[in-house]
Amino acid sequence: MSIAENINRIRKEIPEYVTLIAVSKTKPIPDLLEAYHAGQRHFGENKVQEMLQKWENMPKDIHWHLIGHLQSNKVKFIAPFVFMIHAIDSLKLLKEVDKQAVKNGRTIDVLLQFFIANEETKFGMNWDEAIELLRSDEFQAMKNIRIRGVMGMASFTEDEQQIRKEFNTLKNYFREIKENFFSHTDFFDTISMGMSGDYVLAVEEGSTMVRVGSSIFGSR
Ligand SMILES: *Cc1c(COP(=O)(O)O)cnc(C)c1O
Repeated sequence: MSIAENINRIRKEIPEYVTLIAVSKTKPIPDLLEAYHAGQRHFGENKVQEMLQKWENMPKDIHWHLIGHLQSNKVKFIAPFVFMIHAIDSLKLLKEVDKQAVKNGRTIDVLLQFFIANEETKFGMNWDEAIELLRSDEFQAMKNIRIRGVMGMASFTEDEQQIRKEFNTLKNYFREIKENFFSHTDFFDTISMGMSGDYVLAVEEGSTMVRVGSSIFGSR
């Protein structure tokens, strides 16, 4: 199936309120353009340089999501245009995003990345680390970032119950944080979970944003 057909099929599988991010990492510009011409406007990349290059060469009405691990010293390259940063995993990184957002005269939307898998390799915070960040005076003082919600990756496993359990954990984190820190706002509304192998389960468990790569563009 073509990229356009894949996008249309996936769009029909997920509810309208779920944002579909086309994860285009390692894929060439013509592939991204095919997705764009099929109406796709949210794209995800995991490397700063690659996203920068694609941003320069693609139409300007695209929403660029940085979904991968981000080093503080690279925030400045994407701060002028990034739509959402999914992988906030430390106060230090968040401070840098706020600083660069100020420099660019904009507010940057971010998600807190949680470690929910039973694997060693996945990035993200645990519950205590996130609470410490949210309670810190430094976070309270930030003016140019908006925490929109949470993000996580489930274990790479065939065990559906395990995956559901991990997504459910992330949804509970979302609920608790919303109740305790963002109950008087309306922008804390995003649960970014679900990839090619598990986006259907993720949506069933409450995802509002799925990040799909290989099911759209083919294997990498
Ligand atoms: C690569 C990647 C995806 C997409 O993975 P697929 O299995 O190709 O859909 C989603 N989220 C993150 C954080 C990624 O790095």
